[in-house]
Amino acid sequence: MRTLLTFLCLSSSFFVARATEPPALQALIAEDMPYLLEFYKDRHENPEISLMEKETAATLAAELRKIGFEVTEDFGGYGIVGILKNGPGPTILYRTDMDALPMYEKTGLPYKSKLTTQYNGQEVGTMHSCGHDMHMTSWLGAARAMVKMKDQWHGTLMLIGQPAEEIGKGARLMLQAGLYQKFGVPDYGMGMHCSPTIETGKVGFGKGYTMATTESVDILVKGVGAHGASPHMSIDPVVTASMMVMELQTIVSRNLKPTESAVITVGAIEGGIKHNIIPDHVTLKLTLRTFNEEVRQMVHRRIEEIAYGVAKASGVPDDLLPEITFPDEFTPANYNNEALVDIMTAAASQVIGKDNVVYAEPLMVGEDFSMYGQTAEKVPTVLYWLGTAPAERLASGNVPGLHSPYYFPAPETSIKTAVAVNTSVLLDLFTKK
Ligand SMILES: [Zn+2]
Ligand SMILES: [Zn+2]
Repeated sequence: MRTLLTFLCLSSSFFVARATEPPALQALIAEDMPYLLEFYKDRHENPEISLMEKETAATLAAELRKIGFEVTEDFGGYGIVGILKNGPGPTILYRTDMDALPMYEKTGLPYKSKLTTQYNGQEVGTMHSCGHDMHMTSWLGAARAMVKMKDQWHGTLMLIGQPAEEIGKGARLMLQAGLYQKFGVPDYGMGMHCSPTIETGKVGFGKGYTMATTESVDILVKGVGAHGASPHMSIDPVVTASMMVMELQTIVSRNLKPTESAVITVGAIEGGIKHNIIPDHVTLKLTLRTFNEEVRQMVHRRIEEIAYGVAKASGVPDDLLPEITFPDEFTPANYNNEALVDIMTAAASQVIGKDNVVYAEPLMVGEDFSMYGQTAEKVPTVLYWLGTAPAERLASGNVPGLHSPYYFPAPETSIKTAVAVNTSVLLDLFTKK
């Protein structure tokens, strides 16, 4: 991701003055750093994959209870909800995700992952290669700071430990379990994600749509199998599927308005078993990324037209037309509430300086944090980027991305920055209403 060092120019002068000014907050965080660093390394060593976050959730729940939160566990999978009531005032939701990915870590760090798991019938490593361990640590750090500064704010802090972000299920699980009905509708919702390309010490914000709707689509291409030496006796699904792959490329290049964006990637083609057998089916596995609903509908329509059209042109009879499976559930695009971005960038600038608050352009990745702001209650939400890359890494040009077995955040500066920004934002939101 390219980042522009453009500060979203905002004044912080309209905020109610806070008792805790940045130096005091920084000192408080510095004091807590040894604890947080140890917590971070322990989380990094013990990653659990989606829907298996049992120990992780129990650890977070215990940490919150220790500092006075009322904690509900197993709320939507292994989801946890920690509530700290501190007098009358707004309710603010702050979410961390908890899950890791099924892959072997190759960072060589002294605190690298020591766990493996069963995944699709195989033993694989587990790794926090998306930085969710950093998210949990920053979240806990902010919780600890807010408890220590309890005399300086009023309201209800709602901390969520969300499972299964990597498979786009966790937010839905927690919302369907009745998050807002049981714990109240928050006035604001916030979350943070590690950025592998923003320098550690900085944070990145975008307004409006910042992340895409993501969908997985399967196309089952059917045909008639035959001996590889007798192609005239087949309706070859390998060739039909190949033509579809090429035609699908024209949706973005020819059907999409040039000022809009979308991605259609055929990530997998599965079919056949042997050189000399023409199979009777091939499966195409696609990922779709879009920002707005109109484009999403157009992409769906064109996928259907191309799949059926190419099949018919290949001589596929009506009873063997492709089967297209669109997902019933998908992760909607993340929308950052403009007014809340203004508040958050101002609060971030107060503690880390305005030069360290940068513009982050939209990305075609997906994040199910988006769902907390897209229920009927229309909670204003923001998901921002935490810079995690050391300057030397960025200068070297060798910058591993999220989900890379080589990715890891610079721990100390990233934790310090995140805790400072999150605490500052929370204090401002609590004193604003
Ligand atoms: Zn991820
Ligand atoms: Zn992630």
